[in-house]
Amino acid sequence: MSEFAFYLVPADPYCLPDEEGRKRFLDLFKTVSPLPNGNGDYYFTVYADPQPVHAGAGFEAVVCPGCDTRNRLFDDDGYTPFNDWWEAALSGPRDATVTLPCCGAASRLADLRFDSLGAFARFKVGALEPSFSDHWQDGGDNFGALTEETLKRFEAIAGCPVLQIWEVA
Ligand SMILES: [Zn+2]
Repeated sequence: MSEFAFYLVPADPYCLPDEEGRKRFLDLFKTVSPLPNGNGDYYFTVYADPQPVHAGAGFEAVVCPGCDTRNRLFDDDGYTPFNDWWEAALSGPRDATVTLPCCGAASRLADLRFDSLGAFARFKVGALEPSFSDHWQDGGDNFGALTEETLKRFEAIAGCPVLQIWEVA
């Protein structure tokens, strides 16, 4: 059986709230997803450099910011040539400019987004099998989303838009 994890990350890959802000962000998440959740704890991670926070088994493709192509990492025959491109890109600096193979668009590596939704981030807060509350749309469900009002509260703390990422573990 699959497990699901939910993360909130700043949409700006270099955005990192200060320590006080990070604590407020986590405290708000504890209200949004009160214990117990899957492992009785919360995820709270700070990265020195932006790291990919992605959908795990649901991470299928990197989306081109130039032409919106879903550059698939694998297909029915296994890993695609794009997967090699991705691995090579990941071995470089996060602020490197990379050239997407689909259309030649140039992008900062850290600005790439994934499908299912994922992104580079310096900070993530979340939970395994999160519990739900009335801060979630329609009472909450796996692959659901927070209410707009609650998301705005996280964004006010982060100082930038916040992404909601579901991981299939
Ligand atoms: Zn493209």
